Formats: sequence, structure tokens, C-alpha cells
Amino acid sequence: MQIIIFGAPGVGKGTQAKILAEKYGILHISTGDILRNAVKNKTEMGLKAKEIVERGDLVPDDIMGKIILEELSDFKYRTGFILDGFPRTTQQAEILDEILRELRFERPFIINIDLNEDVIINRLSKRRVCEACKSIVNLDSMDDNETCPVCGTRGQLIKRKDDQADVVKNRLEVFEESTKPVLKYYSDKTRIITIDGTKEIAEVSADIINNLILN
Ligand SMILES: [Zn+2]
Repeated sequence: MQIIIFGAPGVGKGTQAKILAEKYGILHISTGDILRNAVKNKTEMGLKAKEIVERGDLVPDDIMGKIILEELSDFKYRTGFILDGFPRTTQQAEILDEILRELRFERPFIINIDLNEDVIINRLSKRRVCEACKSIVNLDSMDDNETCPVCGTRGQLIKRKDDQADVVKNRLEVFEESTKPVLKYYSDKTRIITIDGTKEIAEVSADIINNLILN
């Protein structure tokens, strides 16, 4: 099963991808992880990407495409995967189509987690990262705003730069303009399952799983 988990920043893509990966016994891969692995393993494309990232530039689509191709060529993905963070533009969707064709994968399902912008802004304003264990946590789900619920370290929960209000607004604008058209691109090519992201995490997963079974 090949799945692309799709949605604006803050809708819970990573959380849902982890749950689905476990449920279906397939691997969850985020583009951030793929990039970090390529850099760590010093692959040809990884070294190229490292240079670009260190200059402070974005890794161009063609290089990112080659890195994803390298990664997905690994035998461990033959039973399927959940891709998180790619494609973010229709151009990237075209590149991904080529990659999957080359590797003889079928077209992926798209799981589109839909969530109102105000809810996203509110959620992201409460998101913190623990500097000790790098877990992402939400203040709403905690009794104590000082202590990391994952590792128990106190006083090291910080707001990521990405989650500051002005940055969030900008990320949502970029999503609307560049990423949302990806749905239109796929609309006549594959199945898109749209899920209401306002519900609790477990309910959202149950909705996704039910829809995957039904289709
Ligand atoms: Zn922690």
C-alpha cells in the first residue's frame, strides 16, 4: 500500500502517518528524514544536498527527486510506505509519478486531512518541542506546562521558530498557493480520501482506516 499523507502544516500528518504505518506494517518516511539519511550516508545526492542546505538554500526538486528515488529503491519499501512532506507542489507530484513508475509502484492513495485555518493556528500556537528528547508536544494535552511528558525533563519545552504566529501564517499561505493544487493534480489520477481533522487523534485514525477498507 502506497500512501501520501497530505494536509496543511499542523493538521497532524506525522501523528497519523505513524499510527497508519504501525497498523499496516509499512514504513513512514518524511522528506526531512530522507534528506537527513542521505546526508548522513554521504550518498552522491546527499552530499550535494548538504552543500545546498549549508548555503541556506532549499534543495531543488530534481535533487530531492533523486534522493527519494534512491531511498524508495530500498527493498524495505516493497510492501509499501507512507510519504509525508512530499509532494508539496504539482511539479513535485509529477516527479513523484515518474519515480513510482520507474520503481513499478502503483499510484498512491492520497489521504487529505482537512482542517480549518483558525484551528490550525490555535493548535500550532500550543505546540512545543522538548530540547532534551526532541519530542513535539501540545500544551493542551499536558497538566504541567514545564515538564516534557515524553522524557520528563523540566523547563526545556520551546516554541519552534516554525510555530511562531507570523511564520505559521506564511506557511499556511504557501500551502494554499503552492501545495493545495496538488489535490487537483491527483483528482483524476488516483483516489483521494478526505478526512475531517478536527476530531481527536484516535477518531481521525479510525476514519482513515475505515475509508481505506471501504475503498
Ligand atoms: Zn522530552
